[in-house]
Amino acid sequence: MGDKVRCELCPTECELDNYQIGGCRTRINKSGVLYSLVYGKPCSVAIDPIEKKPFYHFLPATAAFSIATAGCVLDCKFCQNYQISQARPEEVDHKDLPPADVVRQALYYGCRSITYTYTEPTVFYEYMFDTAKLARDFKLKNTMHTCGYINSRPLRELAPFMDAADVDLKAFTEDFYSRICGGRLRPVLDTLVELKKAGVWIEITNLVIPTLNDDIKKISEMTAWIVNNLGRDVPLHFSRFFPYYKLKNLPPTPPGTLSDARKAALDSGLRYVYIGNLAGGGQNTSCHKCGRLLVERSGFRVNQNNIINGRCGSCGTGIPGVWG
Ligand code: SF4
Repeated sequence: MGDKVRCELCPTECELDNYQIGGCRTRINKSGVLYSLVYGKPCSVAIDPIEKKPFYHFLPATAAFSIATAGCVLDCKFCQNYQISQARPEEVDHKDLPPADVVRQALYYGCRSITYTYTEPTVFYEYMFDTAKLARDFKLKNTMHTCGYINSRPLRELAPFMDAADVDLKAFTEDFYSRICGGRLRPVLDTLVELKKAGVWIEITNLVIPTLNDDIKKISEMTAWIVNNLGRDVPLHFSRFFPYYKLKNLPPTPPGTLSDARKAALDSGLRYVYIGNLAGGGQNTSCHKCGRLLVERSGFRVNQNNIINGRCGSCGTGIPGVWG
């Protein structure tokens, strides 16, 4: 009984008996001490354009050294990476890549940043933390793509080493989070506010899924919350859903729904609203003041960038983001 441990890393707060593994599959209680099962053992290592994360207002057209381990704190029925996010560490191939090797490789391949991504980086918190701290010494930036399901204390300790976060805001109802993701909405909103307070650059991604979270009224509530709590300058990416994993029964998001969502977000006052996973418009950045096309993108490629020293190349207005 004395060996029982409560993990306080994410809001699930698993109570673990001796040798029991947490819900994320990556943390084990051994005689009253919690151990990570994935430290230094990434199952995915790749060099991606930063636009793929997606970050549209953070060092455009640069390469991001990207790592992930097995495991996740949520269980989303639409997960695009379920083969690794819902796997136990021993079920996936991994490399042995301690923090110093991650930093060394990122520098060797000319990356400007290291991104903790693909699965949920909270599950490899200690690995991410040590890598991010070391990366700073070598002038590399740190970014993460996260579901935001992390408790505020570990987040506050991590934030000083994190330059940017793309947070999945999966829907704006507790019901969706509970039924579709096995989590709660409130902690995600708290994370967004905490990141903003800590000065971390934030972008938000919302996957629009037919019948589950595509109600425009709810989307408007979500975008109004973003404006009121995070400000108008947070870029929002609406992403197109495709049938996958446990949601193969649903159709892809109709393009019109994504356009309606974008309009609702702009009407709420957001200045930079994008559409992803859809060929065609919705990917470019235009100045919120004069309307000039600033960053033109095709897929993950940047075709032109007219932002000069963080300002619109035409009217000189400051464009929110991290540009150089
Ligand atoms: S990080 Fe893992 S072990 Fe810790 S509370 Fe969350 S799900 Fe449980």
